[in-house]
Amino acid sequence: MEAWEANVRKVTPYTPGEQPSGAGIIKLNTNENPYPPAPAVMRALREVEADSLRRYPDPGASVLVEALAARYGLNPSQVFVGVGSDDVLAMAFLTFFNGEKPILFPDITYSFYDVWAGLYGIPFERQPLDADFTIRTEDYCRECGGIVIPNPNAPTGVAKPLAELEDILKANPGVIVIIDEAYIDFGGESALALLPQYGNLLVVQTFSKSRSLAGMRIGYAFGNEKLIRYLNDAKYSFNSYTMSAAALAVGAAAIKEDAYYQGTLQKIVHTRERVKERLGRLGFSFLDSQSNFIFATHPECPAKELFEALKQAKIYVRYFPKPRIDNYLRISIGTDQEMDVLLGFLEGYLQKKC
Ligand code: PMP
Repeated sequence: MEAWEANVRKVTPYTPGEQPSGAGIIKLNTNENPYPPAPAVMRALREVEADSLRRYPDPGASVLVEALAARYGLNPSQVFVGVGSDDVLAMAFLTFFNGEKPILFPDITYSFYDVWAGLYGIPFERQPLDADFTIRTEDYCRECGGIVIPNPNAPTGVAKPLAELEDILKANPGVIVIIDEAYIDFGGESALALLPQYGNLLVVQTFSKSRSLAGMRIGYAFGNEKLIRYLNDAKYSFNSYTMSAAALAVGAAAIKEDAYYQGTLQKIVHTRERVKERLGRLGFSFLDSQSNFIFATHPECPAKELFEALKQAKIYVRYFPKPRIDNYLRISIGTDQEMDVLLGFLEGYLQKKC
């Protein structure tokens, strides 16, 4: 080790899903939306003026903040935006989790949470999911430094009823409770409805999934004015120009395209239910996903083997070599055509090999 390495902040980074490129690939590994963004969103992107790129963007991101506030019936002072919900969540960890007591999140969940906790030196405790992969409310009704719950959870896809989340909020008035709703548009009930009653609630959502804009990097959070002010203080102490001119224009345009996005959402949910039924017939078991992916396991064919075989066939799904879930595949919902190729491959493979 060189001398300067003693002063390095050493972290174990998050491993993002592969982003393979090339012809003929079916990419079902990072929960992207298989449909394009709304046509009006693409127009807004083309119309971004050179002058707005020459200049620094609006640090307050007002056009986007105001569009979000109007769409969700809030005041702009209750809205925070960032570079994808990863950025919003990272800011929220930095801002709100600065105590001695451990923050709580599930043992099987979005694997970025423990990375941010590690980066910022936040103590944390993982709460084991039940045998059926549900989040147990009672595990979160205890003294702690804060709570993060994704709803629906990832990679399981399981949604937690709003009444149970409210029980957790009621039991924790002294800490911030973050509900990560990256997948909420595909199913489940948003905790946004609880915002007026709970000043310690932060609801985080994204444009990456239901609005087909993972490449543009736009995320947002809703909370009471005081929470948002604290978040902005941290943001302005880190990077004031987080949202590019293009992201602001595209995000504001996307908010107005609810009708288009309702259509693509319905298609994805329809495909998801059809794929569940077909996977069931192939002998897979899976959780009742309310998101845009399915977390499935097969009694005879090891998930790792299937993952490798699918990759050979240029079909990318996600495999997590982690305790409790290392015999599962997380399969994002693509178009009907893509899912038919996947199902056809699985059918043939299972007949031959397993
Ligand atoms: N939360 C969860 C549960 C996720 O699965 C993801 C997607 N990787 C994110 C947050 C972050 O998504 P994004 O930064 O694209 O908004």
